[in-house]
Amino acid sequence: MGELANCARCDKVFVKITKSICPDCVKEDEKLFQIVYDFLKKRENRRATIPEIVEATGVKEDIILQFVKDKRLRSTQFPNISFPCERCGEPIASGKICENCQNELSSDLRYQQEIEQVKQRNEQHEKERTQTYYTRSKED
Ligand SMILES: [Zn+2]
Ligand SMILES: [Zn+2]
Repeated sequence: MGELANCARCDKVFVKITKSICPDCVKEDEKLFQIVYDFLKKRENRRATIPEIVEATGVKEDIILQFVKDKRLRSTQFPNISFPCERCGEPIASGKICENCQNELSSDLRYQQEIEQVKQRNEQHEKERTQTYYTRSKED
């Protein structure tokens, strides 16, 4: 069963099953995808960049980027389609962030985990202390 949600594109309430946009927008997306795909399919357009596709088809950049993110348009097929890394803006063709950021984030993550462990240890100590205090005061 789906849940009610607001369409991420037009804000209409709809029953969400797998997609974050409503059936109307999905249909609209299909139409736009076809336009973009028909354009890219032509041999002379294979190497088009996203701004060039926007220019030629009139389809908005974020919609094209969504097609790339959904892997409906693949950079193996169309070498110049890419989208900015969510962290630093470098053009990438898969995932959400570039390799550099991925590396940085994973070391950040390790650091975060270490901090978390220290925090938990401290909390544990704190708990033990208050428990001891509690038992002791009960004996009084
Ligand atoms: Zn919609
Ligand atoms: Zn990056």
